[in-house]
Amino acid sequence: MARLLALNRWPRPPLARRHYSSHLQHLRIQNTQSPKPQPNPSDLKFGRSFTDHILQLEWTTTQGWHNARIIPYDNLSLDPASCVLHYAFTCFEGMKAYKDPSGSARLFRPEKNLARLNRSAARLALPTFDESRVLEYLAKYVEIESRFIPHLPGHSLYLRPTLLGTDASISVSRPRSAMLFVIASPMGDYFASGMKAVTLLATGKPVRAWPGGVGEFKVGGNYAPSIVPQEAAVEAGSHQNLWLLADGAGGEEIVTEAGTMNLFVVWVNAATGRRELVTPPLDGTILPGVTRVSILELARERLKEMDVVERRLTMGELAMAEKEGRLLEVFGAGTAVVVSPVMSIRWGERSISCGLKEGEEAGPVSLQMKKWLEEVQYGLVEHPWR
Ligand SMILES: *Cc1c(COP(=O)(O)O)cnc(C)c1O
Repeated sequence: MARLLALNRWPRPPLARRHYSSHLQHLRIQNTQSPKPQPNPSDLKFGRSFTDHILQLEWTTTQGWHNARIIPYDNLSLDPASCVLHYAFTCFEGMKAYKDPSGSARLFRPEKNLARLNRSAARLALPTFDESRVLEYLAKYVEIESRFIPHLPGHSLYLRPTLLGTDASISVSRPRSAMLFVIASPMGDYFASGMKAVTLLATGKPVRAWPGGVGEFKVGGNYAPSIVPQEAAVEAGSHQNLWLLADGAGGEEIVTEAGTMNLFVVWVNAATGRRELVTPPLDGTILPGVTRVSILELARERLKEMDVVERRLTMGELAMAEKEGRLLEVFGAGTAVVVSPVMSIRWGERSISCGLKEGEEAGPVSLQMKKWLEEVQYGLVEHPWR
């Protein structure tokens, strides 16, 4: 109660009004005539149900970005020759809107997602866009759909900005037309029945990403090929796969990411005797997660007893740390789940136990990070990222 009262002293303006609002006059809004029923928070399935509207913009070489609109959610109409259908001219983002205690919708570092979408677009020869303009449209969209954000802890509205080439041409060339849209899916609490640590199967082949490839971009083409290895991990009795990358020269197996999450390790450094929070560096094979960078920033600012290190990690080092009792925690990090503690990693014949005690589902660092991140996301504390 004290927390709620304190918050009321800092009333926040609605999202859309926080930004300079000159762009909104170019946004056409057509409300749905058949609003969907309010979702029942207890039977929300991730990514299967969507809100009433879609935010959509179009682009051509001659007109640039135009026809920005929020209209009733409906099918798209695409020419069968559309380049997206043939050559995967498509990139996307995953972000969330949350409800704060006063009931207003908020986004978490949305400018980072839009900047990343533009980097992906540029790599795919798709048009880039004015990030502040699209952020304003997005804020307006979230405001319109805010009744779909369950006002419950751990609940949110997942936002899926998508950019695709619509050019009706099967010549492999730079698209001359494109579309940017945003759809939204209400999300329940991933850990409604408590946190649950996952087991990983280390996958050396196939690889997700390689130096100079497109693993550092959120491009559609990276994700369909991830299903077969993910299914193989489940088949082998693990929850998810851990993507490895063989180091050409030494044959060392480098740890990259777990499924679609960045990976963090807490261990004791054998040389310094100090505890370290370690994550692989952005060397081109790692998706630069907003959750990842936020955890790094929070850890550097607040975990004074720990060194925070971005460096290459090998499976051999992980196995050695476990053997010597220095491996304290492993967790994945991403927007969908915030953090996902790891129980153990199967690596060939071995099983590496990741430091959780009997009956424990999460270690102290992952719990601390989840708490700090959610405090900002749900507007429970004042923070510059709001
Ligand atoms: C989206 C994604 C992440 C997590 O990024 P966030 O911005 O934290 O959600 C990590 N790895 C991959 C491969 C991803 O696609």
